[in-house]
Amino acid sequence: MVDLPEFKETSLDEIPARISTTRKAFHENKTRDLEFRLVQLRKLYWAIKDNEEEIMEACAQDLNKPRFETNLAESGWLLNDIVFTTRNLHKWAKDESASDIDLAFKFMSPKIRKDPLGTVLVIGAFNFPFQLTLGPAIGAIAAGNTVVIKPSENAPRSAAVMQKIIEASLDPSCYTMVQGGVPETQALLAERWDKIFFTGGATVGRIIAKAAAQHLTPVVLELGGMNPAIVSKSADPRLVARRMLWGKLLNAGQLCTSQNYLLVDKSLVSEVVQEFKNAYKEFYPQGAKGSPDYSRIVNAASFARLKSMLDNTKGQILMGGTMDEKELFIEPTVVQVDSVEDSLCSQESFGPFIPILPVENLDEAIRLANGVQSTPLGLYPFGNKADVEKIVSSTRSGGVSCNDAALHIPTLPFGGVGESGYGAYRGRSSFDVWVHRRSITSTPSWLESILAIRYPPYAGKISTF
Ligand code: NAD
Repeated sequence: MVDLPEFKETSLDEIPARISTTRKAFHENKTRDLEFRLVQLRKLYWAIKDNEEEIMEACAQDLNKPRFETNLAESGWLLNDIVFTTRNLHKWAKDESASDIDLAFKFMSPKIRKDPLGTVLVIGAFNFPFQLTLGPAIGAIAAGNTVVIKPSENAPRSAAVMQKIIEASLDPSCYTMVQGGVPETQALLAERWDKIFFTGGATVGRIIAKAAAQHLTPVVLELGGMNPAIVSKSADPRLVARRMLWGKLLNAGQLCTSQNYLLVDKSLVSEVVQEFKNAYKEFYPQGAKGSPDYSRIVNAASFARLKSMLDNTKGQILMGGTMDEKELFIEPTVVQVDSVEDSLCSQESFGPFIPILPVENLDEAIRLANGVQSTPLGLYPFGNKADVEKIVSSTRSGGVSCNDAALHIPTLPFGGVGESGYGAYRGRSSFDVWVHRRSITSTPSWLESILAIRYPPYAGKISTF
């Protein structure tokens, strides 16, 4: 077992000074230079690599996250993200020449410059602590901002390892971390920012947006996850069960893109349930509790919330259902419910529950899905091409994975719509979300004789236009 650094809240008195240091560095143009940004990103890459064991251990202690999942969605994910960003940065940051411009203005050399926004704040969530905190920060650094990073206090070992990584690799005058929970975040929100990037639940999202509005600060809100899966009668029950189970066993369902509930054509329900049982046996021959490949719930409060959701369901448990409070273990649990108002469908579970609601047909499924939350983060339609297309074109969501669960290609824009948030990042969008597209024109002196037409006196000039 590797030793981990200790998690310690940043003192409230220290916060304003940290911010003003980063703001000063921005105004000194330290981060404008592309080579400077590239060096920072490369140093960050190597610090993540050097601390991979600490990252594994921190995710294991915070969430019992299997090493495979930590590599897939935390350290490995970030390393790939940095490689992709550094490879493309020159191309993304280049001035864009303006197209669709009237010939008359071409002489003014119109172009769009990708200006950094300034000093920005990234607030992370606990469930993929490294990916969701350092991921947005990578884009912010690439775009030339100075950055303050606030990880979730609910994954404290991960937060402490992130601090070690940041301090070991990045220029401290430009990039800093503030540790803590509500009081520290409130202290951060009292300050003026050039953008705030928040990942978390909608309740806190509203607090962030309100605080930002005081300073007219733009915000990105990456919120959750009332994601429906819609299973048409043309779907393959085995595929549905294996993929949907995977979507709920990753991080024990603490995943914003995992499906919250399934609307299944009634003719397929018993086959789908049987296939869930088959897949569960195949993935966890000794059960999830004894497997090294299954996470735990993050803390006692989340465990209690999930327990109460299951206690209050009017549905019938068809698979799983066991819990161990001491271990914060909740088994992947399939429940047949009879209404979308059931406790398991009407709130975001953010846990390993798989409620199945039988429906008469696709039209009913679409109507119900649109009624629960009309703009979820993800949508998972299963069936043939025509059925899937019908579902996609009758619904809205941040993203869609047809015939799959949770999957999102890491370089495609990722973000919610409506109640699941606004703004998107990942891939090129991670750069675009952190820059101001600044239109620049330059009027040559030789144009003066033509431009003279704009100056008064106007008499006799109107007919020239
Ligand atoms: P959360 O909203 O409880 O906390 C997120 C952050 O907000 C943390 O850093 C926390 O310290 C801070 N915070 C908490 N209360 C606050 C307050 N009163 N004032 C100011 N700051 C406060 O979210 P969570 O429990 O970490 O994550 C779970 C939620 O996040 C789920 O709803 C999930 O769907 C969503 N999520 C969304 C995405 C996405 O990319 N869209 C990714 C992961 C999680």
